[in-house]
Amino acid sequence: MPIFRPKLLEWEAAMNQTVPELIAMKRDGHRLSNEAISFLIGRYGRGELPDEQMSALAMAIYFRGLDDEETATWTESMLRSGETLDFRDIGRPVVDKHSTGGVGDKVSLVLAPLAAACGLTVPMVSGRGLGHTGGTIDKLEAVPGFSADLSPDTFRKVLADVGTAIIGATKNIAPADKRLYALRDVTGTVPSIPMIVASIMSKKLAEGLDALVLDVKVGRAAFMPTLEAARELADRMIAVGKRMGVQTRAVLTRMEEPLGRMVGNACEIEESIACLEGHGPEALTELCLEQAAAMVELGKGISKIEARAEVDRALTSGHARDVFERMVHAQGGKLTALPKPKSEITLRAGGDGYVSAIDGLAIAQALVRLGAGRQKASDSIDPRIGLRLDAPIGHSVCPEAPLATLFLGDRAVPERELEALREAFRLTEDPPSVSPLVLEWR
Ligand code: URA
Repeated sequence: MPIFRPKLLEWEAAMNQTVPELIAMKRDGHRLSNEAISFLIGRYGRGELPDEQMSALAMAIYFRGLDDEETATWTESMLRSGETLDFRDIGRPVVDKHSTGGVGDKVSLVLAPLAAACGLTVPMVSGRGLGHTGGTIDKLEAVPGFSADLSPDTFRKVLADVGTAIIGATKNIAPADKRLYALRDVTGTVPSIPMIVASIMSKKLAEGLDALVLDVKVGRAAFMPTLEAARELADRMIAVGKRMGVQTRAVLTRMEEPLGRMVGNACEIEESIACLEGHGPEALTELCLEQAAAMVELGKGISKIEARAEVDRALTSGHARDVFERMVHAQGGKLTALPKPKSEITLRAGGDGYVSAIDGLAIAQALVRLGAGRQKASDSIDPRIGLRLDAPIGHSVCPEAPLATLFLGDRAVPERELEALREAFRLTEDPPSVSPLVLEWR
């Protein structure tokens, strides 16, 4: 306790505690009351709590954590710092999914139309990519004319007419999280599980959902490097969702090599369409079907088997493909004008063996440096740049066999980047054991 206690501000007086006292409580490992949390986040969202106090609190939470009740209150306070959406009047269950993001992760693009084709409303508020994980919005913006910046009325209209729409994050949804995330980014406090939970869940629950499916990626190319950390993140997000009355389920999926065969923007749109037409990579398609079935099961309250049968029908009948096209069209996009690469380079194996590992992180980082993603928020993206994996894990190759094809735009590729891409593939004499993509459901 400070020896000199300054005069309490009006809201501090309501709790009989100053902000430094609250920070010190968390620093010393005590719980914060619901009232204290909602005051702190509310003030921070309105710019009434200085960054230095919030930084100190974030660091105290990084070391001391938040229990489930504190995390739920933190989440709810961030959600209440902005506007919340409500599409229940459209008359269909409102369900979404969130992925912690990974290399080649285009699941949302396949899943949203699949779930909408089964009678759900899927209001996806999605992100742009920064660093090695690509953003769903960047992929969609590879489609000429596509707008992720819809007015609230247009968003609602597309949802009512088509069943799904995918828009970029708006400044009105959970503004306290937007400020806090930027602060965590520069204060070394991003990897705090309760703050990640609150950050993700506040933005998703602001969509006014009946149910939510979470895809938590595990591995070197993912946000959560270990199964243990991924389980904790998943369980804590499920606990917050349940406390807030939203049925929530999580799937843990492996993220070492890229998901599917394509990494990039325009090429991932092509691969998503291939999945919706029934000729996409098997493991990727299966993951999309499983997650869509979980959304339908929770949203409609039907059995897992019935939900899976509905989702399979939506795919094989072409209905989901049709929903995707209608959504892109309703958001201004022309799928027939998807940009094509200006040239291609084949990366060859250079030796005999089995492809036993593909370093998704190294591939993504090289592609970002070549212009397929952003190193800083103001960078622009060339949607044509990308890579197709020609020899997935388990394939046997000879020296001349293609490992991958690099898609290029106008820029030349320095030799060191080709080298970095080649080094992302490990060849071994013996065939590797291939582990399943889906590790477990929680
Ligand atoms: N994604 C988010 O939206 N927030 C985090 O804190 C981490 C990942």
